[in-house]
Amino acid sequence: MFDSHCHLEMREFEPDFPDVLSRMSENGVTHVISIGSLAQNERIEKTLEIANSHDFIYATLGVHPKSPYKDLHDIALSFENYYSKNKKKIAAVGEIGLDYFIPDASKEELEKIKIKQKELFEFQLKIAVSHRLPVIVHIRDAYEDAINILKAYAKMPDAFFGGVIHCFSSDDPSIASEFIKMGFFISFSGNITYKKNGGLRASAKEIPDEKILIETDSPYLAPQNFRGKRNEPSYVRFVLDALAELKGVERAKFEDLTVQNTVNLFSLEEVPGFYPSVAYKIRNSVYINLTNKCTNRCAFCPKYQNGGSNFNVRGYNLELKKEPTAQEVVSSVFRYYNFKEAVFCGLGEPTLRIETLKESAKALKEAKKAAISGTGGGSGDAGIKLRLDTDGLANAVYGRNIAAELEGLIDSVSISLNAQNGKVYEKFCNPQMLKKGVDAYSSVLDFVKESRKRIKEVTVTAIDLPGIDIAGIENIAKSLKVGFKLRKFNDVG
Ligand code: SF4
Ligand SMILES: [Zn+2]
Repeated sequence: MFDSHCHLEMREFEPDFPDVLSRMSENGVTHVISIGSLAQNERIEKTLEIANSHDFIYATLGVHPKSPYKDLHDIALSFENYYSKNKKKIAAVGEIGLDYFIPDASKEELEKIKIKQKELFEFQLKIAVSHRLPVIVHIRDAYEDAINILKAYAKMPDAFFGGVIHCFSSDDPSIASEFIKMGFFISFSGNITYKKNGGLRASAKEIPDEKILIETDSPYLAPQNFRGKRNEPSYVRFVLDALAELKGVERAKFEDLTVQNTVNLFSLEEVPGFYPSVAYKIRNSVYINLTNKCTNRCAFCPKYQNGGSNFNVRGYNLELKKEPTAQEVVSSVFRYYNFKEAVFCGLGEPTLRIETLKESAKALKEAKKAAISGTGGGSGDAGIKLRLDTDGLANAVYGRNIAAELEGLIDSVSISLNAQNGKVYEKFCNPQMLKKGVDAYSSVLDFVKESRKRIKEVTVTAIDLPGIDIAGIENIAKSLKVGFKLRKFNDVG
């Protein structure tokens, strides 16, 4: 299990810290993120010391909305100072956010506090962007303002590296779905176990499993059986139990998935057996990110919008620090369940890793029905359904018939044509890796034809941009007797 949010530096843990850690491992809690309180030097230093002396503890840097702070400039300097010295250990900027629960404040005071909190929140979101870090967000009695601020933040094309709404506590399912639409994960703590929180449980039920993290927020918020006592990371098991039961998912599966979700969100590389950025689930499909390399440099590529380099797709950071092996692909895909198909896609051209692609496809196909029981992905002996999203340039790259090599491995292929003729293709798709004299556009058309002979379902796609003749491309698809799909600009996955 992964406790994605606790406060290990706090006084409450001083008397028996080694025991707290032993109980963690005795109970199967393998990793934690300890929140770093940037506004208080002794606290942040202690957090970093704890993280640096244990390989299973990560830290964050952030100013809580209720923490006192001097000025924003100081926060930036302090962040820079601690981040530069502890980069490997810093998982996120957090916890940051809005907390309007201040019962003794007058109306006027509260208004002033709100303005200051918003300013602090927005400032720290900018810090997260400039350091390409995800955020851990604390919200209390402030969902509306938080949603408005985060909407603006999540929309900036090169400015969102994912995040989590920590200790989610709203029983209004429409609030959770607002965050999920923006790409956020949702984290539950001990409050999901409280007797009176039936509404919160109902709301949790609606959240996709692959968007859920678990946490303790210890020493606060002990689960039902320990209410009023000190909470600790080993109690995250009660949060897991409650959610797995609520979701009707086998505990071990749900445990694996919540660890995978945490590893994905925070791009953590050192959690044995779990690989960040490799597989991610959107709706009913699990997408496989084999590489960040591309044959083309498409004018409409989400990676290159606004001159930046943005690898965020719906809250997942797809920037690969290392290209995955076939074995890593298979284990990442099967962390998920309840999916209809697995898709070789990602922010890069999957066929540039053709050997790993074939090896992964074979292993995924062969995965015993038992291993995927209950996935809905397995259809009898055929195993899992596999799709390839490609630029269709593999034959040109390798100088051999790749479509033939995919026969029996890939069930459907979706080929980005994006042009009604070669000139338009060169303009929008910008082939970079082909030998001189190779005509990219006609090579894609050949790949479509070869695929049609070998692969059950073939679709040609185009993006709706001015200059791209959609009707013309649709006609080309018709004449090649393959399907056609229009894709929206900047809508990935
Ligand atoms: S193939 Fe995809 S990832 Fe690569 S440049 Fe084109 S749009 Fe971007
Ligand atoms: Zn906290």
